[in-house]
Amino acid sequence: MASTLSDRLSRLVKTMRGQARITEGNVQDMLREVRMALLEADVALPVVRDFIARVKDKALGQEVAGSLNPGQTLVGIVHKELAATMGEGVADLNLAVQPPAVILMAGLQGAGKTTTTAKLAKHLIERRKKKVLTVSADVYRPAAIEQLKTVTKQAGAEWFPSTPTDKPRDIALAALDHARRHYFDVLLVDTAGRLAIDEALMAEIRDLHAAIHPVETLFVVDAMQGQDAINTARAFKEALPLTGIVLTKLDGDSRGGAALSVRQVAGAPIKFAGVSEKIDGLEVFDAERHAGRVLG
Ligand code: GDP
Repeated sequence: MASTLSDRLSRLVKTMRGQARITEGNVQDMLREVRMALLEADVALPVVRDFIARVKDKALGQEVAGSLNPGQTLVGIVHKELAATMGEGVADLNLAVQPPAVILMAGLQGAGKTTTTAKLAKHLIERRKKKVLTVSADVYRPAAIEQLKTVTKQAGAEWFPSTPTDKPRDIALAALDHARRHYFDVLLVDTAGRLAIDEALMAEIRDLHAAIHPVETLFVVDAMQGQDAINTARAFKEALPLTGIVLTKLDGDSRGGAALSVRQVAGAPIKFAGVSEKIDGLEVFDAERHAGRVLG
């Protein structure tokens, strides 16, 4: 098993006994260890570089508190800076619009969009007492429409049928009309994903976005995607005004460094974390806790 960052830094610090401050002289070696830890956690390289530069600025010349050594102090700075980079406080869903509030789910195929749509439906019903409708705009995979129907039922929400011969925007508009007429509070719109970024798909989801004016556009991304998450995030950010991120599969063995990359590139807060395949496997994202995981 890889050593944690604290282990590595304390080992390093033993070789620089008597140094009570973080200085130009000793900070380089320590930052090298921080850099390694972040890369091992799958944070993308440009994000690591940026991060290290910020930590260096904060760390230099900082007085080391009585009982701490420079290594421990640096771990503290890194932890705090990581948590701040991934988000501050809790970023819940924005539903402050005339109902129905429309939430658009975006992301690659397999990221966990359909599962997350149902998890969010359950969350909104149980925690925020909302009446929730779901619809699938995935006209390419009838199985995806059926999957949404099944998981929506498990969530205790209602599902609006889609006709695969219709355009995604027409399906979503029909669902929106139904939601208005039947006094739903929230409409969750699941979308098609491809295995890789695809211009036609991006054009389609942009068109869908323009038609239904979602109050939340959530980018769903698989934490196990590691370094690739940054490219996916960039492409979706260019196509859509993202308002939040859902990081899925955090129950896997990834250290979750994708959180850092994606947060930075997408420029939107991570609102939720997927922590199991089950319908209740959704947690409000906790940046503090996640920082500990990334550091190992
Ligand atoms: P979509 O293609 O983006 O709609 O992805 P799906 O919702 O179909 O999910 C793809 C796979 O990932 C399914 O097998 C899900 O059960 C699984 N999955 C989704 N979210 C999570 C999660 O948070 N944890 C785990 N372990 N599996 C997940």
